[in-house]
Order: sequence, then C-alpha cells, then structure tokens
Amino acid sequence: MKTANPKAYRNYFRQRTANQWHKIEAEAGIPGAIRPFLAGNWKMNMIPRSGVALTARILDICRDIKDVDIGLAPPFTGLSTLADYIKPDFLRTEYGLGRNVFLLAQDTFFESKGAFTGEISPEMLAAIGVDRVIIGHSDRRANLGKYYGFGSSVARRLTGGFLSSQLKKLKEKDGADAQVIAALEHLSAKGNQDILAGLARFLEEELRERAGESDEAIQLKIRAALAQGLQVILCCGENREARDANETFNLLDRQLRMALEVVSPRAVSEMIIAYEPVWAIGEGAKPATLEQISEVHDFIRNLIMDLYGEQIASSIRILYGGNVKPDNIVDIMNIAGVDGALVGGASLKANDFASIIRFGLNT
Ligand code: PEP
Repeated sequence: MKTANPKAYRNYFRQRTANQWHKIEAEAGIPGAIRPFLAGNWKMNMIPRSGVALTARILDICRDIKDVDIGLAPPFTGLSTLADYIKPDFLRTEYGLGRNVFLLAQDTFFESKGAFTGEISPEMLAAIGVDRVIIGHSDRRANLGKYYGFGSSVARRLTGGFLSSQLKKLKEKDGADAQVIAALEHLSAKGNQDILAGLARFLEEELRERAGESDEAIQLKIRAALAQGLQVILCCGENREARDANETFNLLDRQLRMALEVVSPRAVSEMIIAYEPVWAIGEGAKPATLEQISEVHDFIRNLIMDLYGEQIASSIRILYGGNVKPDNIVDIMNIAGVDGALVGGASLKANDFASIIRFGLNT
C-alpha cells in the first residue's frame, strides 16, 4: 500500500489540464476547497441501537478528522435515532467534530403523500433531519426483479386464455392501440402456443435479471428530493454485461443525462455522484482497477462539463463505490478525479470504516 501525503488529499483544489482533472494541494480548512466525502451505506443492517453504537465507535476513532465529510446511511428505521445522536451540538461537545457528519437515507419515494403503502416521502425524511438521500443505487436499479418476482407474475399471465380475454376487452375500447391488438391476435391464435410459452419464459428471465427502478423513476426521485431541500447522492454504474460489451460509457451517459435533466446548475453543485460498477460491489467481488476508476471518473466529469460548464465540473464531488476497504482506500483516493467513496460492507465494521475515513493518516 502506498503512503499518501495526507495534506494533499484531505482538502484540495482541482485544475484541468488536457482533459484530465488534477487535485492540487491546498491548506487544510480553506473554505471552498474540495472536501472528501466518505459515506457508509448500511443497507438492510443494524437495528437503531446497534447503529448508534457503531457510530459512536467510528466517531471516537475519528475525533481529529475535521476536513473530511462523513455520511451514514442507516435503514429507514434507524434514521430518527441516529438523527438525534449526531446533532451538531452533541458532536461538538462529545467528539470535538464540526458539521461534517451527515445523515443519509438509502432511498426515497417521489410522491409526497397518499396511498403508497410502505413508501417514505422526501418530506418525511427532511422532517427528521436527513441531509442527503442516496438515489439510484444498483440494489434498487437492478436487483428488485429477483426478489419481487415481477417476471413470474408476467409469465403466469401470458396464456392463450388470458390474452384472448384481454383482446376482447381491448376491442371494445375506443382508441385501443391497433398494433397491440394485432400482436395479441397473433399470439393467442391456436397454432402459436409454443411461441407464447417461449416468450413467457424469455420475459420471465429478463425481468428477473433486469426489473428494478427505471431511469425515469430515478429522475422523479431526484426532483422530489431536491424540492424538499434534501441533497442527493446519485448512483450510476454499469453491470458486467455492459462492461463486457464495451457499453459502459453509453450506459453511464444515458443514466446521468436522464437523471440530471431535472437538476439546475445550482442544485447540481451540491450533488454528489457515486460511480459504482455493479460487478465490483459486494462480498466476493473485486473492486474496479485504478485505471478503470480513473477513466470513468474523467468521463463523468467531462460529461458534467458538457452539461454545466467547467466551474461546476471542477467542484462536483464524484465518489467511487465497490469493495472499498482500508487496504485500497489510499490508492483509490490518490486517483485524480476521485473525491471519496461510497462504502457498503466495510462501513459496518467500526475499525474498517474509521480507517477508510482516516485514509492517508493511518500509520
Ligand atoms: C455498495 O453497495 O454501495 C457497495 C459499494 O458495497 P461494497 O462496499 O460492499 O462493495
């Protein structure tokens, strides 16, 4: 592991040379300098009391860390309790910390209230002191189909009998889509039962692999969160299939342009983007290589420059996520365009997450 000069990365400015973004050393504590953001996503772990105990251990080890922003994302049930624990006054008296510990929610719904059983609105999060919300995490973009079984419920309905009854209803409706009617007529015809069965299995598998939050839903969530004064950590990242097909940049371009369509230059300057390649996340996966991280961060920063100009591109914080651990954080933070990390597994262990926060200072 390389040893970093902590001063260079705890607080820095950035400049662009020949399409590459570089960090430049700055004095610690300069207003306007870029502050690293180290965020722990606890996912579906920790009851409220354990979350507070974990936080207390982390903050205890990080008492002297003032130039790094720390984010903690407990599950919804832990937010209120943790909000009470990390009140600025308490942090100051107990740990000597400034306002550098932030409460993060792992998701939000986009409607403000109503018949949405089980959902939580941005208003509700803002009311209990949440600072930022993670939006578009790959657990939600890509993995919901596996657990909710959307695929099998579609497949079960794709029978000749069901399609015929739907066809009958459609034909009675004014303005029904002629192409849909033609397709249903074709599929429900007697000789096409095998095609229908094959199509059902194909769709079942596709939805199992891919069903999850769409780019459209993510855009709605961002708009709703910002409207309530919540800041956003927007996650993006390619799956293994896209990387192997050399589609990484196309996919990131689509995810980010769609998400940012509703974000003003003012709002984007406070936003954080987290690049999390799906194939690098979770136990057993390998983190992306330093070269892969570097080229994607440059790509994202250049995209932000296209959309919002150089000033915002040079100050927006872009994090990396995917198996960040104490033994690779220094190398990752040494990459020119990386401003922090979104950490899953290692954020559940006090010593590990504290080492990550203290990157460059661990001896
Ligand atoms: C994540 O889920 O956002 C993540 C980065 O997980 P891990 O650090 O465990 O790979």
